[in-house]
Amino acid sequence: MPLKAGRLAVIAAGLAGAAGEGSPELAAVLLEDGRIKAMGEEALASTAPLLDLRPAWLAPAPLDAHTHLWLRGEPTANLAACRQAGLAAVRDLGNPPKRERPQGDAAEPPLLVASGPGLCAQGAAKTWLGLPCAGPGEFAQAARGLIASGVGLLKVFVTGLLDFNQPGQVEHPLAVSQEELTAVVAEASKAGLKVAVHASGIPAARACLAAGVDSLEHGFFLDRETLELMARKGLAWSPTLAAVEAHAADPEGRHDAAIRRNLELIAAGQAQAMRQAEELGVNLILGTDAGSYGLPHGQAVFLEMEAWLRAGLKPETVFQAATGRAARLLGLEGEVGRIALEARAWLMATAQDPGQEPLALAKPLWRSF
Ligand SMILES: [Zn+2]
Repeated sequence: MPLKAGRLAVIAAGLAGAAGEGSPELAAVLLEDGRIKAMGEEALASTAPLLDLRPAWLAPAPLDAHTHLWLRGEPTANLAACRQAGLAAVRDLGNPPKRERPQGDAAEPPLLVASGPGLCAQGAAKTWLGLPCAGPGEFAQAARGLIASGVGLLKVFVTGLLDFNQPGQVEHPLAVSQEELTAVVAEASKAGLKVAVHASGIPAARACLAAGVDSLEHGFFLDRETLELMARKGLAWSPTLAAVEAHAADPEGRHDAAIRRNLELIAAGQAQAMRQAEELGVNLILGTDAGSYGLPHGQAVFLEMEAWLRAGLKPETVFQAATGRAARLLGLEGEVGRIALEARAWLMATAQDPGQEPLALAKPLWRSF
């Protein structure tokens, strides 16, 4: 029963992601014209039609904090796949410079926060999803150009890809210098925007920490000391575990057995670092690299959740990383990722508490959108 407009009071066994202040004793919400207008007793006091979902729970729709809408088909179709999968918002991190930045619809899920092309180094380290620059001045100028074009954040490619032949090695381990990165962060903060960085390996993660970026994307091969610094400085981390697992599973037979074995080692190392990060209190964010090998848009979120659960992360961490924490990183904390007053009414009913069973979000019993 999609709810386009009008009013509906909903009662459930529990409200996931409504913990803390403002969490009502009674698990009920009033949805009106696409927003949550009342919670608890007040929601039931209204004259709106009542939908009793008990014993199901009510949960916010999940987000994907790392997609590439220009990979695997056209952005419009890929955004539709995200909506179909029930995503509330996505963050798009890099499209080819000659292609148009994907546009979302502010009234419909998923909300879209897009970087446009990333900024990257020149020469061998450049990427087709980035604008090549050299020197802090050029990076700052390119950042200003992107900001003027209305991007929702800035993305920088500080390293190349993982070397599948040598687990632990990264191509171009520090292609963008700390000074260049600092210049981008300065421009972004003047504009009130965040900076996401594609980087793996300790030197690149340390440069991210020193420059004060907001999120580390991928971040393979980190040690405990670096993770401790990330926890202390509040650097968010989107470890994109399913992306490497998909390569290791290799559904299209692209890799030989030795490479697949290396990929398994890389994934196991990442899983271990994620467990350490959870223990240290790093702000883990669920992003998928959707559009890359083996990761379809929309459904990638649930593949990433499965990977995190297999890695031994707590279900509550997985749920928070895909909802409230991701929303905060995207600057959408008042809109999505939580059941809260005035947030979007993009909710789903789940058979279990998704804080205990996050994959319940993959097969909701009901959706308001
Ligand atoms: Zn990516």
